[in-house]
Amino acid sequence: MDLPRIFTLRESSHRIHNPFTPGKLADLGRALHLAPGTRVLDLASGSGEMLCTWARDHGVTGTGVDISTVFTEKARARAAELGVADRVAFVHGDASGFVADERVDLAACVGATWIGGGVAGTVELLARSLRPGGLMLIGEPYWRKEVPDRETALGCHAGDEGDFLVLPELIERFGGLGYDVVEMVLADQDSWDRYRAAQWLNLRRWLDAHPDDEPAAEVRTELDTEPARYARYQREYLGWGVFALMAR
Ligand code: SAH
Repeated sequence: MDLPRIFTLRESSHRIHNPFTPGKLADLGRALHLAPGTRVLDLASGSGEMLCTWARDHGVTGTGVDISTVFTEKARARAAELGVADRVAFVHGDASGFVADERVDLAACVGATWIGGGVAGTVELLARSLRPGGLMLIGEPYWRKEVPDRETALGCHAGDEGDFLVLPELIERFGGLGYDVVEMVLADQDSWDRYRAAQWLNLRRWLDAHPDDEPAAEVRTELDTEPARYARYQREYLGWGVFALMAR
């Protein structure tokens, strides 16, 4: 049970595995007015940057669960580096179906709603760990503008146009699930570049060091095609944001 290696190669230099800069992650933490001691559950916590920096900056405590051994190790190292290893813990495991033993004040899934089979299922999953009146965070893509055709959707690594909604519809969707959207921080094209363009240098450096390794051909193809594909489609059409929700 692990994340396929190509993901960890692509994002080897990333602390944040989504289109947020450190500044946007910090904006979100400030926007939520987190009280010291806020208990957090972060499903698909990646390299743990949200929990670790919010533990340092706001005194939150909590647990992250992630299926990647590489990212989970990075998260533990980051907690030690920031001096918060006594406040946060990182568990290697499958987060689909994960429910906390004790209910938390803030339950998050930032950029991995497939763990609950989509937005609705992930909201339901997080709700099982959240205390009444607690905050839920969902990180999710949306279309920045209407997608003209299926080719464009595929160019954004979506299955089809129906995979995502435009922003107002995504917000209405949360409402339809019985939640108020009480805050949001959105990626922009520059923060998307920090996420996506940073992957190309990681891949190129890896390829130069490992020309005969197993995924070398796949990495070469990706370097040949992804930058233009990203500029043509994803950068123009795909938005992303973290939405803070409270049950009505
Ligand atoms: N929330 C983190 C990571 C987002 S990237 C951040 O914003 O930086 C998506 C993450 O989902 C990866 O770390 C990947 O390892 C993790 N993941 C994918 N499937 C998972 C599953 N079934 N259970 C737990 N984590 C999963």
